[in-house]
Amino acid sequence: MPARILDGKKIAEKILSNAKSETAALKEKGITPKLVVVQVGSDPASTVYVEKKYRACIGTGIDSEIRQFPEYISEEMFLSEIRHMNEDPKIHGILVQLPLPKGINGQKVLESVDPAKDVDGFNPINTGKNFSGADSFKPATLVGIMRLLEETGVKLPGKNAVVIGRSNIVGKPVAVMLINAGCTVTVCNRKTKNLAAFTSLADILISAAGKPGLVKGKMVKAGAIVIDVGTTKGPGGKLVGDVDFAGVRKKASWITPVPGGVGPMTIASVIVNTLRACRGLEGA
Ligand code: NAD
Repeated sequence: MPARILDGKKIAEKILSNAKSETAALKEKGITPKLVVVQVGSDPASTVYVEKKYRACIGTGIDSEIRQFPEYISEEMFLSEIRHMNEDPKIHGILVQLPLPKGINGQKVLESVDPAKDVDGFNPINTGKNFSGADSFKPATLVGIMRLLEETGVKLPGKNAVVIGRSNIVGKPVAVMLINAGCTVTVCNRKTKNLAAFTSLADILISAAGKPGLVKGKMVKAGAIVIDVGTTKGPGGKLVGDVDFAGVRKKASWITPVPGGVGPMTIASVIVNTLRACRGLEGA
């Protein structure tokens, strides 16, 4: 039987509809949640993501603003802008779109975002809390992936999980999350020898390499859950994942499509994190 499709678009719609009700309830109490999405420069791919996050906020009633700075802004000036946002009580969430231009030290910027407003979960305080399994803001892609796994109803403890990719943004935090969930985790990277030897043992396979066609049906264990995080622009601007969808679907039990899998879940999770920041219950 072909794998069931983990429909990220549909699940994200449900999440956004709940967020809309929650936002309305907050507004009745006189609180308007607000997210500022910060972009430096005008990289077209970044602009697409920035606008998606902005539109999702507006659609749920969350106040949002895109603050765009020129590529030549000095690091000092940019850090001072972030400080102002940290101090503004009307702003609950700050999300700095990555990557940043070469002249700006990305690590310094992530460290400068108030951990209580860090809805992307990349401030080292939140990263550290995630590492130890404490409650904190988690990167939106991670929250989305967790929710997709939850949707399968499969219990994670004891499962073999393989993560392809070890970036600070996706691979490493996903691996940590799966370790904390009780999985036995293997993390592969571009230097891994015989990738298939690892992937074929995975009950849960998460691919975040950005390499179209990397994961083929013969590399996947029968019945595996396969989450495709990769997004690469293919011919005609179409988004393509890492996974050979048709081939892998014949082997897996669950699979995410690209587009319509992890992408919409990431956007919805930004909204979830913004509402958490607004409630001020957790996160720092
Ligand atoms: P990255 O380039 O920083 O990291 C890619 C990782 O994959 C590296 O660790 C590299 O060693 C590994 N890799 C590359 N080729 C490999 C191979 N042949 N075998 C094994 N490992 C290999 O990228 P990133 O920022 O982590 O993003 C990964 C992908 O996820 C990209 O396609 C990106 O666009 C996508 N992404 C999607 C979302 C979403 O919401 N859908 C969010 C973030 C990133």
